[in-house]
Amino acid sequence: MIRLSPYSVLIFHGNMLRVKSASRYSLLYSATCSSFLMFMTIAISKIVQGLAPSATLAMSAKAKELKSQGKTVYDLSVGEPDFVTPQHICDAGTAAMKSGYTKYTIASGIPELKKAIVEKYKIDYGLEYKPSQVVVSNGAKHSLHNVFFATLDPNDEVIIPAPYWVSYAELVKLSGAMPVILSTEESQNFKMTTEHFKQAITPKTKMLLLCNPSNPTGIMYNAKELEEIADIVLKKNLFVIADEIYDKLVYSNDQFVSFPTLRSGLQERTIVVNGVSKTYAMTGWRVGWTLSPENIAKKMGELQSQETSNPSSISQHAALAALTGPQDCVTEMLAAFIERRNYVAKRIAHINGLTCPEMNGAFYVFFNIKNYLGKTLGGVRIDNSEQFCLELLMQKQVATVMGSAFGCEGYVRASFAAGLDILKEAFDRISEFVNS
Ligand code: PMP
Ligand code: GLU
Repeated sequence: MIRLSPYSVLIFHGNMLRVKSASRYSLLYSATCSSFLMFMTIAISKIVQGLAPSATLAMSAKAKELKSQGKTVYDLSVGEPDFVTPQHICDAGTAAMKSGYTKYTIASGIPELKKAIVEKYKIDYGLEYKPSQVVVSNGAKHSLHNVFFATLDPNDEVIIPAPYWVSYAELVKLSGAMPVILSTEESQNFKMTTEHFKQAITPKTKMLLLCNPSNPTGIMYNAKELEEIADIVLKKNLFVIADEIYDKLVYSNDQFVSFPTLRSGLQERTIVVNGVSKTYAMTGWRVGWTLSPENIAKKMGELQSQETSNPSSISQHAALAALTGPQDCVTEMLAAFIERRNYVAKRIAHINGLTCPEMNGAFYVFFNIKNYLGKTLGGVRIDNSEQFCLELLMQKQVATVMGSAFGCEGYVRASFAAGLDILKEAFDRISEFVNS
């Protein structure tokens, strides 16, 4: 008799059937192939079994599925600019193809793009980097994966203030290290306090992951708040991953401050993550990067050479055009985001029972739905943010993402990277839903 666990793999050798457990052949059995095909199953690794799928992409897929059924959906789920990639950037992609830039490149990115990234940080933030400190990857999500794999050992702890972007904790777990989630309060504008930060540090703490401006809350730390965090980082010999992918989407009177600029010695302790997805409406092109100490960049480049090779050659040339070409497109998109942000803030303020922090950056509103938990909306009892989002989608065709996916129950994230007409209809429907 063969006992098959859900993790068993059956492998045929002629008419012999081997049963492979998660790690080694455990049983040998002779049988005809056909009668066992139906039991064939490949073991999923324990680490991937524990992986939650991206909730933002899952909600966006659900919205797309409804659209494919012919339904009109007001999609505020995924964080992706609704603008098309500016023409001169698309043209650079076409020109790259025509010029034969269709081959492998250096795994860590083309020298021209690395140079452009270095120049951008010099001009924008006065930071001095060498091109050898840059690794260009398949989007900033991939950059984060590289950072975690290159720097973390099992049991290392990474402090992540919550609400946090959906992929952080999962990517840290994938590397075998431990995410340490630090809750923050709406009453404190979802900002990590220094006291709270200090309390979370243990001998195992390796780094802090700071997303500024924040996805999902839209808050932005000011220079003084960042300096206080930086002083603790330096005192405790920690490292920082500064996810600054929304650095050009800022609506505050405060200026955005790039983390490594704050104190001397901080640049050696910080890995900056950024990319073209948000600033240039280039989500599908998949180009992100890191700026890090040279030894880490070298290892991440090597890691990438084994895992994915280079990011698309064509996309790298398009990203080069984005960084070195005219920046009016960024100003124009920012102006549209400001208008939308102001509109959304007004709408939330006028919907009974909803609150949100001031949106100072990125393109999300993270609104509090606690007044509606335990209540019946449209005939269905709502006990958590996931039910709220699913019912809002089913009853009113508005797609949003549950706060629980960002480590913060009782809230919902809506992206305002959508046209004003869509936002108007979506918020009319949200208002109807909570009053139903
Ligand atoms: N960091 C944050 C905070 C994000 O919101 C995103 C959006 N997906 C990313 C990183 C990754 O961006 P991408 O992979 O598209 O460059
Ligand atoms: N960063 C975007 C979001 O938060 C894109 C989706 C994703 O990469 O998870 O919605």
